[in-house]
Amino acid sequence: MKKREEMTDIQVHVCLNQGTEYPFSGKLFDQQKKGLYRCVVCHSPLFVSDTKFDAGCGWPSFFEAISPEAIRYLDDYKLSHPRVEIRCGQCDSHLGHLFQDGPPPTGLRYCVNSVSMAFEDVESGEIIEG
Ligand SMILES: [Zn+2]
Repeated sequence: MKKREEMTDIQVHVCLNQGTEYPFSGKLFDQQKKGLYRCVVCHSPLFVSDTKFDAGCGWPSFFEAISPEAIRYLDDYKLSHPRVEIRCGQCDSHLGHLFQDGPPPTGLRYCVNSVSMAFEDVESGEIIEG
């Protein structure tokens, strides 16, 4: 579990203060390799690369979570239209938002900040923090 003092400024902004990174700014939005996307704070598994797709929005996008318990869903009324905020089911770190305009089979789009996640390459074992 990463402590606050071990986090970068952008990780604190996004993970703890529910901020949003600039689109196309993270390391993982165009990551194509096979692997596991984990919470950057507690390393719980969140998404697998098979469910990642290019939404063209500049943030890593997935159509399905790795398990129902992996993600916590909250109503977010910060904008004029209500949104669903997504957080890590284990440590409550902010991840991004869930939208209903994703591809089949789910029709869902998990729009996730790159800095909220750490990618684990299944072949090399390399970990890349977003
Ligand atoms: Zn977590």
